[in-house]
Amino acid sequence: MYHSIASMPKGTVMRSLHVPEKRFSLQMRLLKILGYRGVSMSDLQPYLTGKKTGKVVGLTFDDGYKNNLTGALPILKKYGFSATCYVVSQNIGGINHWDIDKDIPENPMMDKNEIQQWIDAGMEIGSHTQNHVFLSKIDQKDTITEIKHSKHDLEKMFEVSIEHFCYPYGDYNDSIISITKEAGYQTATTVNRGISNINDNLLTLPRIPITHHTLAHLFLLKILSKYEDKRR
Ligand SMILES: [Zn+2]
Repeated sequence: MYHSIASMPKGTVMRSLHVPEKRFSLQMRLLKILGYRGVSMSDLQPYLTGKKTGKVVGLTFDDGYKNNLTGALPILKKYGFSATCYVVSQNIGGINHWDIDKDIPENPMMDKNEIQQWIDAGMEIGSHTQNHVFLSKIDQKDTITEIKHSKHDLEKMFEVSIEHFCYPYGDYNDSIISITKEAGYQTATTVNRGISNINDNLLTLPRIPITHHTLAHLFLLKILSKYEDKRR
């Protein structure tokens, strides 16, 4: 689970959400050296269901930051990896407005043309709702709209099928899971920590948070050991 790929000065609020390009590059190189392939959620899905076996790591980027295109994409291409970026469908070309009242700095999102470049480069987009809302804190009819219509928005705008969803803030419950299933998503990711296995519910997938502080040794622990499962 990545968010922003950028270097931020010390003292930046929630600096941890920004992984500097150099650190991201080293992480991808480590995966490659270890024989892993970084893959999008669509490429990962057959491994999650047991149809395929092999050394793969799902790569996801939340929110749709412009620096995913400028910073992460060249590195992903260099290693022949794919990834899924979860886009907020009514905030394309906007900023992270949901963070601003927490003093988190403004960070621009990809615009329509940039998301198209991301897709054209062989990468995938998924949905992260229409407005980056807490799904359990709004009326159920709004929850349905956020989940279903974001899929339709993105499918219409980019003429691709949107099969993968990510709960903003990792906020979900049984009713939200049902709505997500009903909307036709194949997978949905949470902020629950852990390494996925074939017994996981595809609509409540755990992830491994990678932050500013994830240096090489910690990255290796997270990928290769039970470090994350102990934090489930
Ligand atoms: Zn988010």
